[in-house]
Amino acid sequence: MVYKYDFLVIGSGIAGMSFALKVAEKGRVGIICKTGIEEANTFYAQGGIASVTKPTDNFEKHIEDTLICGGGLCNRQAVEKVVREAPAQIEELVNWGVNFDMGAQADRRAAPAECDN
Ligand SMILES: Cc1cc2nc3c(=O)[nH]c(=O)nc-3n(C[C@H](O)[C@H](O)[C@H](O)COP(=O)(O)OP(=O)(O)OC[C@H]3O[C@@H](n4cnc5c(N)ncnc54)[C@H](O)[C@@H]3O)c2cc1C
Repeated sequence: MVYKYDFLVIGSGIAGMSFALKVAEKGRVGIICKTGIEEANTFYAQGGIASVTKPTDNFEKHIEDTLICGGGLCNRQAVEKVVREAPAQIEELVNWGVNFDMGAQADRRAAPAECDN
């Protein structure tokens, strides 16, 4: 059998799935997995995502914290990009229906516009 796709995604983690959802508007997408679609680090993540969500927080603190925890191994430019884009990316995941725990933690989620940077 021959399968034809416009986009081929290798792996079913959050990176591959996000890309697949975005390009699905432009063509047919095939996803190749090693075993099942749930066999990815993404499926096992459980501790939450660190992001600036409150006016009392700011991007500089998260950038410095990440660089310190990285013990000199992080690329500052990459850290800055990830930290600054996190609120919008998380909002997008929520809008796609990602099943984050929204119980008592719900108030910790805020629109990116509420961030002070
Ligand atoms: C137990 C655990 C808990 C975690 N908790 C957290 C947390 O609380 N917060 C947090 O932010 N992060 C957490 N992480 C890290 C987080 O899960 C990863 O950083 C994130 O999921 C990576 O996403 P990804 O799409 O880049 O990669 P992955 O989710 O790893 O996806 C990669 C995909 O590629 C596939 N693949 C790899 N090689 C091949 C190949 N040769 N051929 C075909 N397919 C292939 C894999 O099967 C998988 O489907 C945790 C990770 C683990 C394991």
